[in-house]
Amino acid sequence: MSGSEEPTGRTGGRPAFHANSRAAVLDVIRAAGTISRVGLVETTGFTGATISTVVRRLIDDGLVVETGHAESTGGKRRVLLALNRSSRYAVGVHLDQGGVTYVLTNLGGAVVARVFRPGGSPDPEIMVGGMAEEIASLIESVGVAGGRVLGVGLAVPGPLARGGGMRLTPPAMRRWEAFPLDRALGAATGLPVVLDNDATASALGEHWSGGVGGTATFAAVYLGTGIGAGLLINGVTYRGVSGNAGEIGHICLRADGPECWCGARGCTEALAGPAAVVEAARADPAVAAAAGLNGTDGRAERPRGGPGTPAAEFAAVARAALRGDAGARALLEDSARYLALAVRTLANVMDLEEIVLTGPGLAVAGSLYLPVVEEELNRAFFARGAHGVAVRLSESAAGAPAIGAAALVLRSELVPLREGLRLPEKLPDAAARPPVTS
Ligand SMILES: [Zn+2]
Repeated sequence: MSGSEEPTGRTGGRPAFHANSRAAVLDVIRAAGTISRVGLVETTGFTGATISTVVRRLIDDGLVVETGHAESTGGKRRVLLALNRSSRYAVGVHLDQGGVTYVLTNLGGAVVARVFRPGGSPDPEIMVGGMAEEIASLIESVGVAGGRVLGVGLAVPGPLARGGGMRLTPPAMRRWEAFPLDRALGAATGLPVVLDNDATASALGEHWSGGVGGTATFAAVYLGTGIGAGLLINGVTYRGVSGNAGEIGHICLRADGPECWCGARGCTEALAGPAAVVEAARADPAVAAAAGLNGTDGRAERPRGGPGTPAAEFAAVARAALRGDAGARALLEDSARYLALAVRTLANVMDLEEIVLTGPGLAVAGSLYLPVVEEELNRAFFARGAHGVAVRLSESAAGAPAIGAAALVLRSELVPLREGLRLPEKLPDAAARPPVTS
C-alpha cells in the first residue's frame, strides 16, 4: 500500500468528481435502504443528469439494483434503488490478546460468516500464516468467488504508527511493534489489507451497519483489552495525524494517580481499565473467588489467548457482578464512574450528540456501565442546555472491531472519501499519512 491515499488504487484512475459523486450516491443508497433517483437528487443536491449517470454506472458494476416501485402518488411511479448486498464482500479481522475474530460481511456490512480462534502464536510470522489460512477457509465456507472479496480490514489494539503498522503497543503485544503486519498479511492473502485501531474500526462498524445516521457526530467508546474511542464527525471518521485520535484511555483523571503503561500517571486505563479492575479483584480474595480468578500473579506474562488474558478475566469479574456479587459490583461501578468522567470529557471537547458503548468488555458489562455514563452526561455534559447526548449499547459489541474492520474495506473501496476533502488538516507529507482513509 505504501501509504497511498487510496489503499488499493481501484479508484485512482477516475476523476475526483466521479469518485466523490459515486461515493456520496452509494452512501445515501446504503443508508436509505431503498430510494428513488428523485430522492437521490433531493438528498445529495446533485443534478438529475449526474444522478442518472452515476446510478447507471453503479448498476453496471453490480453494486446497485432496481428493486420495484415506490407507492404511486398520482404521477409516474418511481423506480426504487437498493444496494446489491451480495455483490461484494469484505473480510474483517480483529487481532487481540485473547485471540483472533474473523468475519466475512456483505456490501451492506451484514455478517455472513464468523469464526473466533482463541490464542495464537507469539511469533508474528507464524501468526500471519495462520491468519491467511483462516481467511481463505472463511471465504471458501460461504462459496464466495474470490474476485468478489474486496480486501481485508485488520483491527488491532492501538496505537498505530504513522504510515501503518503498530507502534507503542500495549505491553503484551510488544513483539509486534516492528512487524509490518498489514504488508505481511497482504502478501500472504493476496488481498489488499487496511489497518486501523479497534476503537476507530468499531465506530465505523456502527456507522456502516446501521444505527448511526450518516451525518452523526458520535463516538464509539471501546472497552476491550484497554479503553479507547473512535470518532465519526459528520459521518466521516476522524483519525488524527497517525490514527490515534480518541485515546480516552489516556485522559488524566488523577494527576498523582497510578503509573500507566503509556508513561503518564492517573490515566483512565490505569485507574479503570480491564487490567486495573482485574488487579483490584485479585487483591480481594472474596471477589477473586467469586470471579473464579486463579491464584497466579496477574502481571506474569501469559501465552496469547487462553483464559488468563485481561479481557477474559475482566469478563469473569463482570459476570460475578451480574450474578450479584457485591464486591465485584463495587469494583465495576468504580470503573464505570471513571469511564463516565472520560466520556464526558470527550463529549465536551467534541460536542458529541451520540455515544455507543462497545467492545468485548462492554458486551459483558455494558448494562453496568450504561446507566453510570448516562447519568454523568445528564448531570454534567457542558452543552446539556443546548442538546443531550444519546448513549446506547452496541448491538454487536463483542464483534464490533471485526465488523468495523470489514466496513473499513467497504468504505475505503467504495466510498473513497478523502479526509482532506471534508476535514481541513495539514498534510505536509502525503507519504506519511496512515494508509486508511474512510
Ligand atoms: Zn496512559
